[in-house]
Amino acid sequence: MSVRGLAGAVVALLLAWAGSAGAVLPMVTHDGRPYVELTKVAASLQTRVDATPVSTRARLRSGDNVVTLTRNWSQVLVNGKPVVLDAPVRVKHGVWLVPRSFVGRVLPTLVAGAPAAAAPVRLVAAAAEVALADLRVRSYPSFTRIVVETSAAVAHRVESSGPKEARVRLIGLTSGAQADDVRDGFIAEVRLERAGPDGLLRVVFEGTAGTIRATTLADPPRLVLDVTRPTEPAVREGREQLAPLKMIVFDAGHGGHDSGATGPTGLMEKDLVLDVTRRVTKLVEERLSLKVRLTRDADYFVTLRDRTSFANRERADLFVSIHANAHRESATDGVETYFLSSEATDSAARQVAALENGVVQLEQPGGRPTGRVDIVKAILWDLAQSEFQAESSRLAEVVHDSMTQSLRISNRGVKQAGFYVLGGAAMPAILIEIGFVTNPREERRLKDTKYRDEIARAIFAGLAEYKRAWDQRARAAVESPSLTRTR
Ligand SMILES: [Zn+2]
Repeated sequence: MSVRGLAGAVVALLLAWAGSAGAVLPMVTHDGRPYVELTKVAASLQTRVDATPVSTRARLRSGDNVVTLTRNWSQVLVNGKPVVLDAPVRVKHGVWLVPRSFVGRVLPTLVAGAPAAAAPVRLVAAAAEVALADLRVRSYPSFTRIVVETSAAVAHRVESSGPKEARVRLIGLTSGAQADDVRDGFIAEVRLERAGPDGLLRVVFEGTAGTIRATTLADPPRLVLDVTRPTEPAVREGREQLAPLKMIVFDAGHGGHDSGATGPTGLMEKDLVLDVTRRVTKLVEERLSLKVRLTRDADYFVTLRDRTSFANRERADLFVSIHANAHRESATDGVETYFLSSEATDSAARQVAALENGVVQLEQPGGRPTGRVDIVKAILWDLAQSEFQAESSRLAEVVHDSMTQSLRISNRGVKQAGFYVLGGAAMPAILIEIGFVTNPREERRLKDTKYRDEIARAIFAGLAEYKRAWDQRARAAVESPSLTRTR
């Protein structure tokens, strides 16, 4: 393998000197092992290598210390004493290469002897080639979360946080350019660019810049950047808790090439739930003074992520996703209502979540396969929903009670499971399974427009009850502000 052929395998080795920003040593792979160019090691010590491309030996001096290296030998002499490395020193096209173990076994001695250095070298990151796996942006009321998932751990450096944009350097991240249009009223866009051997993440603000807090997480390796809005979060939260309900986003499940569940005579979930959603919308707009927005108002495909991003952008107060259920056993019937949790109530609840989450595969034709485990991880990434769990459970119970009381249908209960579509919602969010299209008797009922009106009225009545209770709490909070903290 030639050095030129290794250009793609260049990775970054970050050496940090205690108390300073640190120097970056580019690393190359040779014979499947990591190597560093000797001249660059010397440069980091502010010294030079005494060798020529054709010489058999090289000498590196730092202060009073001398290291002697011999080409194709694993043993080097440090002040005359032998030190064995895990791979031989090589010279390729006139370039002297030392194995990575040189950094750990020999460099500390040289650093200690260097006149300017008072502290030993610390190896911060010695990653393999790092590639971008996923770039995700989610907007929440008080902050925007950017998740950079990578193939291996990546070192980062926040470079500048000016009035217009913030920049984060991702050391050694090899990735093509990528941009994400955010426009959430805070961040205009998030753009990933190449900057030499690194990736550069640019966060472009719409107006005033926010502050960045970076967290590194493992399994999968990812960098989570929480960009906080300039407004005081505590003040915002307080205001929002007291505000009356203004807007609901209804989310008719599936659509387009994703038909959802299909009944024995061909009733498709995507058509059924869109029709029911329209009926509920009409009632809510006419009878509750609430604005309604729909994630889709016709038969087209919308990704799960876009559904909640839309609700977040619209600053919706509630997110209600409407679906119909399917089961292998045709006799299975009834309604059930879900709110998000990492723990499924039971294995049946887990199966329903798996079924509805399965659409993620349809979103990525030819893309990276997304297993069930990945989906649950994806939900757990953005735990913003946990802030709304109590409120979501309350909403689920009120709507579910209303449905089971008026629909003469089996009550399968309020359940918790890891629904991807609920994961990104920055507001109380529920998912209603209005019945089983796979049950012939229920399919017949679900085709009937009168029954669809009944379902719509039941959901509407639940929402009306929830709103009444909400407004009462909001009023109570205004009258005795000291009690608002506990909600
Ligand atoms: Zn569905």
